[in-house]
Amino acid sequence: MAGVYIHIPFCRKACTYCDFHFSTQLQNKNAFVEALLHEIELQTHYINEPVTTIYFGGGTPSLLTAAEINTIIEKLSSVFKLDVKEITLEANPDNLTTSYLKELQTTAVNRLSIGVQSFEEQRLQWMNRSHTTQQSVVAIESALQIGFNVSADLIFALPEMSNDEWQKQLQKMIGLKPHHVSAYSLTLEERTVYHHQVAKKKIKELNDVQSEAQFMLAHQLLSEAGYHHYEISNYASDGHVAVHNSSYWKAEIYLGLGPSAHSFNGKTRQWNIRNNTAYIKSLHEGKLPFESEMLTEVDSYNEYVMTRLRTDKGIDEKQWHKLLPENHKVNLLAEMNELTGQKFLVRDASRIFIPLQHWYKADQIISRLFATEIS
Ligand code: SF4
Repeated sequence: MAGVYIHIPFCRKACTYCDFHFSTQLQNKNAFVEALLHEIELQTHYINEPVTTIYFGGGTPSLLTAAEINTIIEKLSSVFKLDVKEITLEANPDNLTTSYLKELQTTAVNRLSIGVQSFEEQRLQWMNRSHTTQQSVVAIESALQIGFNVSADLIFALPEMSNDEWQKQLQKMIGLKPHHVSAYSLTLEERTVYHHQVAKKKIKELNDVQSEAQFMLAHQLLSEAGYHHYEISNYASDGHVAVHNSSYWKAEIYLGLGPSAHSFNGKTRQWNIRNNTAYIKSLHEGKLPFESEMLTEVDSYNEYVMTRLRTDKGIDEKQWHKLLPENHKVNLLAEMNELTGQKFLVRDASRIFIPLQHWYKADQIISRLFATEIS
């Protein structure tokens, strides 16, 4: 089983907090799609098992026309064996008009991941989002009515956000009944408008205690509403766990296409150039624009710990022992004992996981189990 991720590197506007790779030069979209089709042809060697999930991420994939989506999927099926269960398209609410949703029905896309972020008009303006609250509500309702599998994103820990405001956001989302909800904590990334505003002291980050309280509030309200909290930022109603994203957490093979996309095949990791013009030029010349590295024993171990411990399943104790790098065994076994003694990790039959009350601090806990390369 393998997944394909396709990065669509265009957005209509730059969001205040975003450091993903994208360009607002939409006039390059046709040349990009052409280059992407060429990249697919050149990547035949990467996957030799059936592709079960395709994920259009970005950027703003809902800027693609249905015809462009069909052409991309057709190209994939001419190169790889497709046995697809889930094809997700990330979408901005303003793109999900009735006519666009109808067009999407002519494609094999069966899941929409809708970037709502907030139902507060003023927040959307601060974020420089391209849509209104009303467009988000209509987008979710229409997509559900048509029969798409619908996921929607919200962001908490916004500057000066009260628990009360966050509770209202969650309640509004729960009332709309999407199949899946992602709730992300706002993070401060360099080279963003948000970072600049914080540096200039125009705005203040929410502190960690407040952010953690909002993380727990999301857990409480979404769990009470019947959503299963299966990964730090992700909640699913019955049968709607994100299949593609889960493959990252299970370290399955995936091929990333498009500028800045990453790929992983169990032995190597590779990443495409993060520049649209250079990406298009390289493929025009018949060259794949990526760098790669072989995964060492330490990389594979760290990857396993980092991805698995972010989920409710945790790590398999036997597998963890098998992957422990020889030179780090003594230290890591001691660290594991200390973490379980401190109850930051819990042992249950054959697995080890971070209990929910410590999920917010998962990154700190996981980093204590990392091995560092000895040169
Ligand atoms: S639409 Fe998404 S990718 Fe584009 S700038 Fe906003 S957050 Fe970033």
